[in-house]
Amino acid sequence: MRARLVAGNWKMHGSLATNRALLEALVAGVKGVECAVCVPFPYLAQAAERLRGTAIAWGAQNVSEFAQGAYTGEISAAMLADLGCRYVLVGHSERRQLYGETDAQAAAKFAAAQGAGVRPILCVGETLDERDAGRTEEVVARQLDVVLAHSNFGDAVLAYEPVWAIGTGRTATPQQAQEVHGFLRKRVGAATRILYGGSVKSQNAAAIFAMPDVDGGLIGGASLVAQDFLAICAAAQAKG
Ligand code: PEP
Repeated sequence: MRARLVAGNWKMHGSLATNRALLEALVAGVKGVECAVCVPFPYLAQAAERLRGTAIAWGAQNVSEFAQGAYTGEISAAMLADLGCRYVLVGHSERRQLYGETDAQAAAKFAAAQGAGVRPILCVGETLDERDAGRTEEVVARQLDVVLAHSNFGDAVLAYEPVWAIGTGRTATPQQAQEVHGFLRKRVGAATRILYGGSVKSQNAAAIFAMPDVDGGLIGGASLVAQDFLAICAAAQAKG
């Protein structure tokens, strides 16, 4: 039985004051399901300080593929490990689309994180054009296979995030999610957790999490509102 995981991606949101309130609410409210928050780099220490010793893990949203050196502005996997990060997002579609991150870079970042003992959450997903062209499986397979060519998946987490569903309010139907999760499952095996991400809200979470190969969610916008995120966590718990 795979343990459900609900991970929040705060993206570039938050402040010391708003984070404090959100973290307090999560510490008080998360029960019975594995949960993590991936916060902006400057707030990792704040998250570590508040969440250490609680049931909630913390992580980052990006990591350098390099171990150390003259890479101004970059953050290494060892630094994330130093701050107690359990997770790091790798290959999020915003990194791929806005910053030109390649499949090869994602694979190198994945390996760097694993090497430092930080679990990657590898994000894969197709654009609307790719879906409409019937290329969804080809795209997610390519994004995943580059990683599998260099690393064992181990205890890393996979997240299927259709690009057309991220931040758009348009969610994959549970059946659409299951189709792709089932396809990915054949590649990563029965033990790997596969999260769905893309406009998951408290209203649609339960139906998506009810699918047999959906093991939880990667939550963007709704992870910034404590009661929404807690409701999504409760929906994941109900499945398990
Ligand atoms: C995300 O950023 O990974 C995401 C799924 O965002 P949202 O939930 O806002 O669509």
